[in-house]
Order: sequence, then C-alpha cells, then structure tokens
Amino acid sequence: MGVLRPRAHLRSVTAITPQWLQERGLRALLLDLDNTLVPYRIYGEAPQGLLAWLQTLQDAGIQVMLVSNGSRRRVRYWCEKLGVPGFGPAGKPWFGFRKALRRLGLAPREVAVVGDQLFTDVLGGNLIGAYTVLVPPLSKREMGYTRLVRKLERWVLQNTGLGLVAGSGEEFDPKEYRQEPTMSKD
Ligand SMILES: [Mg+2]
Repeated sequence: MGVLRPRAHLRSVTAITPQWLQERGLRALLLDLDNTLVPYRIYGEAPQGLLAWLQTLQDAGIQVMLVSNGSRRRVRYWCEKLGVPGFGPAGKPWFGFRKALRRLGLAPREVAVVGDQLFTDVLGGNLIGAYTVLVPPLSKREMGYTRLVRKLERWVLQNTGLGLVAGSGEEFDPKEYRQEPTMSKD
C-alpha cells in the first residue's frame, strides 16, 4: 500500500511555495489539471490567484508542467490559459510522468507530482519515485467512474492510516477529502 501513500497532503496547490519546494530539493511540479487546478469539465478564465501562484513559481525558477488525463483539446486550452506547458491524455498512472521528466531533463527525486486522485496522481508519482502531494478535489461534479474511485480513495485514506503524515500545519485532514470547492476567484 506504500505506493498509495502521498508524501504530503496540502489544502490547495497554492500552499506550495518556492521555499517549500527548495527545502525538499524539488525543482519542478508535474500538475494534474482537473479538480486540482480547475474544477472538472469547466472552461473559462483562470482565477487570478492561480495565475499569480504559477508566476511566483516560475519567477523562482521552478519548472511547471501539466500532466493530465483530460482530452488533448482540454489540456491545450488550459495550458494556454495558464501559460504553462503540458500534455494529455497522459495515461496516468502508468504513463505520462516519465515523458514529463524527459522533457524537463530532471530526475524523479527532483520533481513533485501534485494531484487530487490517489489512483492516478499519487500512484503514478510514487511508481516513478517522485515526491507526491495530494490535494482535495475542487469539485464533486465528476464522472460516475471517478465517483466510484473516490469512495475507494476515502476508504483508503480513512481506514488504513495512509493519510497520516507528520509535519507542518499546511496539511489537510483526509476526513475532509470530500469537501466542496474551495477555489478562490480573487
Ligand atoms: Mg484530477
């Protein structure tokens, strides 16, 4: 079950700061798109807070890449809106992350894989040996299949102790995993 254990739980991607990354020897973020950066299925303008966060990372020399299982069209749309490179459908957990590492020219231990799903983001990130970060999903509106997976994820987080990680106050309690969208529009 170790491969399903995220190295960190954070309340939001925007809790990740350049300093937090540097303290862990991390030089790049491989970011999930749906329900991690933007609510599932939503098209529109990127929230200013999200854009500012991405800018802060890039200013600090942190590389950012979207690795999404979303459609090619959707990933392309959001890469353009967010001003970051990326690709999809990536085929997580089995595919995608190694391709991203090759593009970035980095080793697995130098990257954080960030996402809202245990069985794609966390599993895939752990399988390549990256630093995995789980964030709560932004929206409950998901496909039937993902809803089913959520139930399994919640069970794993709440009943196996895998959710418990030692450390700072930036973490969320896995019991809150099913919370409503917290994306700010400021
Ligand atoms: Mg996701």
